[in-house]
Amino acid sequence: MGKKTHLKFEQTLAIVKPDGVQRSLVGEIIKRFEQVGLKLVAVKMLVPTTDHVEQHYTLDPNWRRVTGEKTIKGYKAKGMTPPSEDPLEITAKILANLKKYMTSGPVVAMVWQGAHAVGIVRKLVGGTEPLTSDVGTIRGDYVLDSYQMSDTDNRAVRNLIHASGSVEEANMEIKHWFSGKEVTAYKLFQEQVTYDVNLDGILE
Ligand code: GDP
Ligand code: MG
Repeated sequence: MGKKTHLKFEQTLAIVKPDGVQRSLVGEIIKRFEQVGLKLVAVKMLVPTTDHVEQHYTLDPNWRRVTGEKTIKGYKAKGMTPPSEDPLEITAKILANLKKYMTSGPVVAMVWQGAHAVGIVRKLVGGTEPLTSDVGTIRGDYVLDSYQMSDTDNRAVRNLIHASGSVEEANMEIKHWFSGKEVTAYKLFQEQVTYDVNLDGILE
């Protein structure tokens, strides 16, 4: 097995969205990823452009269809009528609102590395809709928005944070937000405790 194929090299993209920055939750969010044992390997603040945001959400060519279908299902599961039966029409609106939301102020984009980074970060972030995100997750603990409220006001749901949904998505998204030079390969001394096969360096 090649050196960098070990699970401890898995990376994921997390973005504190404009509402997270405005609510001064950057430190709290970073703390949660740090305390689980993940390593911060890239971080920057920026105001993304509309094009950059559109490209981000459409890196996966299926995103428009899948998100539209998921949204229609969500409406029906609640006994509500979706605004359209056409998934692409639904996603066009979601994307337009996401572009407004994500370009409304600075965001903090980060790359986190460690075993199962994608799955661990998704677990800590919680489900997409804050109304139903589990207690103890970032979205569950710090925000109360819902699709019902955001759809009524024709805006994106304010869910504080973006996190890659799969390793494949993470690899595409990291390249979209960071140049290779901006991601630092370095050793964190505490990683030895997490990953060393033999904990043989502790006793003097
Ligand atoms: P995430 O990976 O948990 O952020 O969720 P997705 O990748 O499925 O969706 C990306 C973004 O699209 C979310 O952060 C929401 O802003 C929006 N979105 C997804 N599903 C829905 C939905 O059912 N209704 C509405 N209004 N927006 C949605
Ligand atoms: Mg997603």
